[in-house]
Amino acid sequence: MYLILATNNQNKLREIRDIFNGTEWNVLSQKEAGIVLDVEETGATFAENAALKAKAIWDAAQQNGMSYYVLADDSGLAVDALNGGPGVYSHRYAGENATDDDRIAKLLKELADTPDGKRGAHYACVMCLMDPNGQMHLCEGRVNGEILRECRGDHGFGYDPVFCYEGRSFAELSFEEKNAISHRRRALDQIVTLLKDIAVKSEGE
Ligand code: IMP
Repeated sequence: MYLILATNNQNKLREIRDIFNGTEWNVLSQKEAGIVLDVEETGATFAENAALKAKAIWDAAQQNGMSYYVLADDSGLAVDALNGGPGVYSHRYAGENATDDDRIAKLLKELADTPDGKRGAHYACVMCLMDPNGQMHLCEGRVNGEILRECRGDHGFGYDPVFCYEGRSFAELSFEEKNAISHRRRALDQIVTLLKDIAVKSEGE
C-alpha cells in the first residue's frame, strides 16, 4: 500500500520515514510521486494547514492516476509567554527568507525579560491522513518543554537548540532519542494505529 508524504522538508521526511521503517507501507515523498507543489499555509490552525496540504497533494495524486493515501503534517512551537506564538507562523516568524538562526535569535530576544519558570512552551504537530476515498483523519501530538536562554547541542533542526525537554535541549538528543518522544512521533503513533486497522480490514476484504 502506498502513502505519499505531503512535504518537501527533508528533516521531516527523514523523521517520518524512520517511523514507518519495517511496516508494510511504501512511503513516497512528493518528489517520488512526481508532484511538484509548494502548498501555501493560509490556515489559522495547525489542523487547517495540515488539511490544506493533504487535500492539495491528494488532488494532484488523483489527477496523476494515483489513488493513494496522503499524509500531511503541520507543526510548530507554541510559547506560553507569547500567547502560543509563533505557532502556525513558526517557519515565517523572522520573515520568509530567514534561517533557523534568525528565528532563534528573534525568539531569544523577545523572551529576554521572561524569567525562568515562565518560559514554558510546547511543540505541536497535527497529522492529516487522507484515504483514497477522500476521507480525512486528524491526530495531534505535543511535547512540553521550556525555552533556554542560549543554544545547546547541534542535532535536530528549527528551534531544537533552545527547546529544553527534561534537562536537555532537543538538539542535544540523538536523532533516535528525539524521534522516540517528539510531537511528530506522538501524532504519527496515532496515525500508524489507524493505518494498521486499515491494513487489517483491507486484508479481510
Ligand atoms: P511547517 O510544519 O512546515 O509549517 O514548519 C513549521 C516550523 O516549525 C518549522 O520550520 C520549524 O521552524 C518549526 N518546527 C516544527 N517541528 C520542529 C521540530 O521538530 N524541531 C524544531 N523546529 C520545529
